[in-house]
Amino acid sequence: MWYIEKHNENYQVGWRVSDILYQKKTPYQNLAIVEFAEFGRALILDDAVQTTVKDEFVYHEMLVHPAAFTHKSPRRALIIGGGDGGTLREVLKHKTIEKVDLVEIDEEVVKASKEFLPSLSESFNDPRVEVIIDDGIRYVKKIKNYYDLIFVDASDPVGPAVVLYSEEFYRSLFDALTADGIAAVQSESPNFYPDIFVKIVTTLRDIFPKVNVALAPVPSYISGFFAFTVASKVYNPKEITPSITFSTKYYNEEIHKACFALPNFILDMLKIR
Ligand code: SAM
Repeated sequence: MWYIEKHNENYQVGWRVSDILYQKKTPYQNLAIVEFAEFGRALILDDAVQTTVKDEFVYHEMLVHPAAFTHKSPRRALIIGGGDGGTLREVLKHKTIEKVDLVEIDEEVVKASKEFLPSLSESFNDPRVEVIIDDGIRYVKKIKNYYDLIFVDASDPVGPAVVLYSEEFYRSLFDALTADGIAAVQSESPNFYPDIFVKIVTTLRDIFPKVNVALAPVPSYISGFFAFTVASKVYNPKEITPSITFSTKYYNEEIHKACFALPNFILDMLKIR
């Protein structure tokens, strides 16, 4: 059986499915856990592949570590979305972290990931973690000057995630961060979704003093580059050298230096050359 992920009228990607492990229509979205022949187990929400066990490390390490190492000593972190647990696993590797709150709108994603994606969801039992089932924008609007780090690990801007791409939401992130806080925002594919990518980055640039885009190839996300925006109040990620004391599969010191280098067509998209 083949699963066809259709990106637009002209482009679709086919994955051979070895097994369908779980399917559920939740109050928010259609959820499926499947076994792909090439990429292993995967979480699919509303017909979009969210993560696969074969390449999730690239996305989760790159969402977390460039921002987390840029902060000198982060203690409190918030994850918005991220119900599979992959971002959580990476945040908890930072030993200064005392507390991580994960705000996920759909508790069925957390439940299914705990059951079928143990390599991602292994950290939900860590005593530093609190899972809050709520809408990310509703939650973050109530918080002021509290988190050192906020990670936006949202699905694409359809359905419940639309609000997580608004200016109002990004302003709430700024207010919820401490005076030297940093937000890292999943920023889509500049090749396939240039409008969404540019809107995320330019909106964050209007709000945060230091905004840098990191790129990494995440093979299961369409193809080509995937973008992560680091929006910081004080520290500049380009000026730090991380000293990494734990194991990673993608991120390292050289990647930290290189990931913020942008090709000319992306600089042009962002009007920064
Ligand atoms: N890594 C993925 C990607 O880029 O495709 C995204 C990970 S997926 C686990 C994102 C999660 O965001 C989903 O579990 C979804 O339920 C959650 N989500 C969507 N809208 C949300 C909202 N408004 N508040 C909190 N979580 C939300």
